[in-house]
Amino acid sequence: MERPPFKLCVVLPCYNEAGVITHTVHTLLGELDSMATAGLIATDSYLCCVDDGSRDTTWSEISELARAHGNVRGIKLSANFGHPNALIAGLFSNHREADILVTIDADLQDDVSVLTTMMQHHHEGKRVVYGVRLDRQVDVLPKRILAAMFYRIMRLMNDRTVRGHADFRSADSGVIADLERFGEANIYLRGLFPLIGYPSAEVHFVRKERHAGESKYPYRKLLSLAWQGITSFSTAPLKFVFYTGLVIFVLAILVGCWVLYAALSGDPIEGWASLSLLVIAFSALNMISLGVIGEYIGKIYKEVKHRPRYIIETTTTT
Ligand code: UDP
Ligand code: MG
Repeated sequence: MERPPFKLCVVLPCYNEAGVITHTVHTLLGELDSMATAGLIATDSYLCCVDDGSRDTTWSEISELARAHGNVRGIKLSANFGHPNALIAGLFSNHREADILVTIDADLQDDVSVLTTMMQHHHEGKRVVYGVRLDRQVDVLPKRILAAMFYRIMRLMNDRTVRGHADFRSADSGVIADLERFGEANIYLRGLFPLIGYPSAEVHFVRKERHAGESKYPYRKLLSLAWQGITSFSTAPLKFVFYTGLVIFVLAILVGCWVLYAALSGDPIEGWASLSLLVIAFSALNMISLGVIGEYIGKIYKEVKHRPRYIIETTTTT
């Protein structure tokens, strides 16, 4: 290896993961061991479990694990701040200490065996490595269709989106320091990393079933994540509204001419149906436009308040 072994920190966001976290930590510790033996990472590499306001026994399990293993740490957030905020809480608390930071879901759906390949990429000089799912066979059909639609829309608006990539990635501490400068409240990590740039690589893996517990991403949350991705990343929907308005305006002029013509050539009563149709169509368009604009205003409102994105209640002592 050209470089000395990296000090690795694996960040695990945990929300009600009491059934899985112990198994996950043990699996990852085994993985850390073998990578340290291979000379890829330093022996003082460690795991950092971020408890995102779980309501079950997740935190006591994390504390237990931290007591039993010197290289397991825990951060407890004061409430449920959501997956991305749990991730940045873990990343920003560790990038001054670790050289490479990996984020991976606590349910081990992502394949930990590709961690080795990720580290090799870092040794070769890559600064961000994206974990990319080869297929979505594990997900049910509606979720796959939704995902495909979402990536298509994201591609149209921002060509740097990494298809099939969720939040399993590794980055060096410099990249995380850059990420820290993005102070946005509506944080969309999957989009930010490609935006930060630097040489990057992808590693491919097949996504597995959840080890235990249930998904914390029901369709409602998935749709909101997709909407977040779109509206935090581009103002294309606003432009779309504007151009649709323009097209409708031209149509309205044509229809207006037609109405005028009909009125002048007698029998204006006949047109009331088309007229009310038009009124409905325009009201709908107005509502949609206001909705899109409202979404962005809501985001501005959130940004200007500058609220902290997470609050750390306590950490395990190291
Ligand atoms: N998670 C979190 N906060 C939340 C929701 C989820 O930290 O509010 C964590 C969760 O514990 C897991 C990861 O985010 O480690 C991904 O969640 P999940 O596995 O439920 O999502 P899915 O794989 O079903 O998309
Ligand atoms: Mg999962």
